[in-house]
Order: sequence, then structure tokens, then C-alpha cells
Amino acid sequence: MHPLDPILKPQSIAVVGASRRPGSIGREILHNLIEYNFHGKVFPVNPKADFIHSIKAFPTVASIPDPVDLAIIVVPREDVLASVDDCHQKGVKGLVVITAGFSETGEEGRKIEKQLVDKVNQYGMRLIGPNCMGMINTDPEIRMDATFAPTLPLEGRIGFMSQSGALGVVILSMARELDVGFSYFVSMGNKADTSGNDLLLYWEDDPLTDMILMYLESLRNPRRFLQIARRITKRKPMVLVKAGRTQAGARAASSHTGGLVAGQGLDVVMDALLDQCGVIRVNTVKELFDLALAFSKNPAPRGNRVGILTNAGGPAIMATDAAVSFGLEVGKLSQRTMDGLRKLLPPEAAVANPVDMTPKPEPPVYASCARLMLEDDGIDSLLLIFVPPMMVSSTDVVTGIEELRQQFSKPVLGVIMATESFFEELNRKRPGHMAIYHFPEPAVQALGALERYRHWRERPVGEVREFPVEREAARALLETARAKGRSHLSTPEALRLLAHYGIPVPRSAVAGCVEELEVLAKEFRFPVVLKAVAPDLVHKTEVGGVAVDIRTPQELMAAARRMGEALASHGAAAAQPQVGFLIQEYVRGGREVIVGMTHDPSFGPLLMFGLGGIYVETMKDVTFRIPPLTDLDAREMIRQIRGYRLLEGVRGEPPIDFEGLAVILERFSQMVEELPGTAEVEVNPLIVFPEAKDFRAVDARVRLQAP
Ligand code: ADP
Ligand code: MG
Repeated sequence: MHPLDPILKPQSIAVVGASRRPGSIGREILHNLIEYNFHGKVFPVNPKADFIHSIKAFPTVASIPDPVDLAIIVVPREDVLASVDDCHQKGVKGLVVITAGFSETGEEGRKIEKQLVDKVNQYGMRLIGPNCMGMINTDPEIRMDATFAPTLPLEGRIGFMSQSGALGVVILSMARELDVGFSYFVSMGNKADTSGNDLLLYWEDDPLTDMILMYLESLRNPRRFLQIARRITKRKPMVLVKAGRTQAGARAASSHTGGLVAGQGLDVVMDALLDQCGVIRVNTVKELFDLALAFSKNPAPRGNRVGILTNAGGPAIMATDAAVSFGLEVGKLSQRTMDGLRKLLPPEAAVANPVDMTPKPEPPVYASCARLMLEDDGIDSLLLIFVPPMMVSSTDVVTGIEELRQQFSKPVLGVIMATESFFEELNRKRPGHMAIYHFPEPAVQALGALERYRHWRERPVGEVREFPVEREAARALLETARAKGRSHLSTPEALRLLAHYGIPVPRSAVAGCVEELEVLAKEFRFPVVLKAVAPDLVHKTEVGGVAVDIRTPQELMAAARRMGEALASHGAAAAQPQVGFLIQEYVRGGREVIVGMTHDPSFGPLLMFGLGGIYVETMKDVTFRIPPLTDLDAREMIRQIRGYRLLEGVRGEPPIDFEGLAVILERFSQMVEELPGTAEVEVNPLIVFPEAKDFRAVDARVRLQAP
């Protein structure tokens, strides 16, 4: 038995705090359990009543003679802990705490919530909530509506989790209106014990759940979510509304990577995460249902070519425009199909896709046209648009299509621009009908999502590869620096760290003074680059600490003297004494990219890739991923930046070595995964070329975590 079974598939339920008072939560939950015909036993618990709702009530859970699987607790906050003890005495294993006033209210509430969780753990129970609105299981064998929502749910194959209770009520009534049914509906509340990830795992193999919808305000453990969702989305679509478009808070953002995360906000990072695990993100609950309708009532399309059949020109144009923006193509019909349509339709009709039947097609003609289009191999999905004219029944049109669409394994979506009363009538007359929308846009968006999801499912999973690296040497380097309490590696050390992970760096050497530099320079082939080295010197160019393309030893000496003066005038020397000069092989040409890692307070480590160099903050052309990167992640990260064309080569330039770059991202990911103790790592720039053997990471920064 699964530990969440007592909560989600109980045989018997105690409602602790059941009440007679109409409108009270304790009454509504009991009422819903009965109204929805819960298949097991229900026990009201209330010390002040013998009967509630005509059912015998008990003063305590412990005094119930039968076994109890689940207790739904709605007593005032100060009585919750005592109720948990009472449940424990009875051997109850599942708890749902509806009562509010816990961590969502502040310090005091947080303390009590902690006590609650401690008790639950100690007693070996599982808990949903507190501060939630209950849950639903529509399985005909269970039929549990343990919410206080006024709408009873429809049976379906969608698992829904909601973090917001208030919104839960709206969601249930909206679902009913739209003819969307659920297998489960769970209001998570404060997620004190059972998390969203726990529930995902529960639904992963649930035979009654084909699709998962989520309304979430936060992800407690994004890395775990990534792992779980990546697996589930290969079998079941997941759609998420992320509430509250959050901004990243203040953070130690001395690197570009950190600064860009802070600047772009967590939203961008969230998008990256969801992209990485195939979860579809929408902005509103309305869009969530638009997609749910399409997914729950259609097979996957085989491609992106949509057929549009309409009786009005305007909406077809809207649909065509939307199709393009959602990644779909208006398919080309075969001559045979067009000839067939011509025979069915009046001469003024348009028989090329979008097919315009003219305003008054009889329902059988509508269905015959739809059949011809569905039979055409050039069409992967069909969008039916109908603006009801007088005298033609929309319901008849839908009925005609209903019989037809079962025969084809292609998505068929309807847009019927009719009044609410039509939709109500249709739900009554033909429950389970095809997905129908009021307007073309949402229908096309949903179709686009179906197609994107097909792509995701067919895409190989990708693998996290392990490269041979000098792990021990890299660890030792980091540990030595941390043991000394340093906050950063010096540039030469940082470059050495990269080299240990197989990321090529230019030949470099460090000189303590000008004289030493003069000697060292003899080992180098000119041109060279000179950089100031100081422990916490971050953006060297800004303080005159970088001189490139130095042609002769004389120029080098002059540059070194200038650099010393420049640094002194910036006050850098006083604050952070310059410890020397870095002389480096000059890397001519190539294109500059940035690869970085930063720690985000809510997401943990994040990887960034983008166009690099000194303009990175200006261009902000970067993508994010959560490590570890699979081989596919690395490649997508590169392709996703806006400036990807520049890497492919414009105006006759040869393209850079794409594979070579992807491998560097993979190695970088391996490095940040394997090496504890780094807070931020940034390679900027990595200079890339048409051949990977020429790549050079010329600058790197590593900020250390405090030991
Ligand atoms: P910082 O980022 O601290 O200002 P960098 O070492 O990144 O210093 O140097 C600044 C810029 O100088 C780089 O973006 C790059 O364009 C150029 N540069 C630095 N080192 C080299 C090198 N070895 N070869 C070619 N160009 C270099
Ligand atoms: Mg740099």
C-alpha cells in the first residue's frame, strides 16, 4: 500500500469538526461526501452533537468503533494538535488539515505547523495541508468529494493539484462549465508534509490519470521536480500555471550570471526549468483549461499541418494568423480533396485551405467536408469554425462531427462563436463532446501545445554524460583556497580549474613584478595579453587591468607600467593589493561566448550560456538550465539564444564548431555538479572557432562558498 492511499483512496473517513451550521466548512465537507456518494463509511466527529446530517456523530475519533483511514480536520487551530493525538489513538494513517492559521500567517503559525509536522512524522501518518480545501477522487470505486466547494466534480482522467484553496473553488466550477472531468483534485495548502512532488509520483503510475494540471505558487524542490517531471512528461502531459510572476530577490550577484538571473527575474529561470522537463507553462487558469480540453479529448497529432474548415472568412483569418504564431502550418490540400469539396459546396466557396463553405452549410454538408479534409494526408489536425447562422443548429453540426471524428486518429477542435446558452445545452445533450472554444485563438494555441508536446515525447531523452577529468586535482585546488578563507580563486587558478575539466585555456603565466614579467615573456610567442592579478579584482577591463594584442617585449613593459598606475589611480591597489601580472597567449579572432553557473536561493545551481565578452550585460542574450545538463540540453541551450545566427556564421563566415561548444557546456555542467564549494563560476569569454581545437577560455572567475 502506498503511504498516500489512506488519504486518496480511503475506505472510511472521520470528519473532525463536522457541524450542523449551514455554510460552515464542517458541514459542507460532510454534505459533499454524502452528496457525491462516497462508497465507504463516514463518521462525523463532534463532542456536542449526537447526530449530524442524520448520521450518528462521535465525540472523539478514538470512540469510533470501526477502523478509520482518513481524518479530515476542520477544528479551530488551537485544537488541531489534540485532534491529531486523538487520530493517532485510533490508528488513523491519513490526515487532511483544512484549518488555516499556520505558516501562511507568520512566526506563531510557523511554530505550530512545525509541531504538527513533527507529530505526524512521529506517528507515521501522512498529511495534506494545512490551510487547504480538501481533495477529490472520482474513481467510481471511491467517489470521494472531501472539499467544501459548491460544485460537484465530473469524472475524468486529469489529476489536478492546486496550491491555492480559494482558486480551487473557482477551478472546480470552471471545469464543470467546460465539461472537463478530473480523476483527482488535490488542494495542497501549505504543503507542510505532502509536497507537489509526492503527488506527482503518486500519479505517475496511476492508471486513472492521463494528464496532470498544476496551479503552483512555489516549487519547494525544483531539482527533484525536474527529475520527476522529465520522466512523467514522456508518458503524461503536464501543464502548469505559475502564479505570481516573481522577481529574483537580492543576492550576491558579482558575476554576470548572477546579475542576469537577478535582472531577468525568476520567470525566465522557471521557463528554462519547465522547458527542460517538457512541462507546458501557461499564464492563466483559462489557458490551463483550454489546453486541458484539447489534450483530454484528442489523440496526438502526427505533424503541424492544420486544416481549417469555416463558414465565415474573418475567424479563419484569425485562426491562420494564430497558427503561424503557435508554430503550426496551414496544410496544403490535395487536388482530389479540393475536387471533392467543389462538388459539395456552392460555386462561391473557397476550397483551398482554409476552406470557406460560405455562411449556411447544412450539417450533413459540414460533416462531409470535414470527412474529406480528415482523409487528406496533407492535414494532421482539423479546426472547425462555425458562426451559427439563423436556421442552422450548431448542436446538429457538432453531432455530425462527433460521429465522424471517432473514425480518424487526428485532433479535431471546434470553434463555435455562439452564446453561453448553446454551450450549456451542448454539455447537457452531448456530454463528452469534442473540445469546443468560443474563439479561434485559444483553440489554435491548444493545438499548438498538442503539437509541441508530441515533439517533446518523440524527442530522445538525452543523457548526462561523464567525461574523463582530473577531479582530484580540481578538488584539491578548491579546498586549498577555501581552507585559507579566500572568497575567490585568482584568474590563473580559475583557468587551471577549467583545464582540469578539459576546457581549453590559453598558455598563461604569472609574474610577481615587472622584472619577473620581462624574464617570463621570453617563453611566450608574441602577440600576448597582459592582465592585472589581484585576489578580488573582478571586472579587470573596467580598471585598466587588461591590455591585448601586445606585439613586442617593449610594448609589454610599457603596458605593465601603465597598468600599475591605472590600478593605483582606481584605488584598487589600496583596497586589494595587486599581486602580479598574468601574461597570456593572445587569441586572435573567433567569437566570444559566456558560460556561467550561479546559485539561486530558490532554484539552487543554475547554468547560463550566451553571447559573451564585455557586452554581455548589454545584450542579455542568454539561456538558463538547471544542471546536470543532458547532451540535448546543452545543444538546445546554444540554439535558443537570439544570436545563434552569429555562431552559425553570417556573411560568409564559417560556422563555429557546434558540437565542440556543446561538449564544453557538458563538461562545465559536470564540473559544477562534481565540485562542491563553488558559489559562482563564470567563463567569460570563451573564444570559439570553426574548430574545437582552437577554442580558448581566456578569462574565468570562481567565487567560493564560505568553508
Ligand atoms: P575582464 O572580464 O575581467 O574585464 P578579460 O580577461 O575577460 O577581463 O578580458 C577582457 C576582454 O579582453 C575579453 O572579453 C576579450 O575580448 C579580450 N581578451 C582577454 N584575454 C584575451 C586573450 N588571451 N586573447 C584575446 N583576447 C583576449
Ligand atoms: Mg572577462
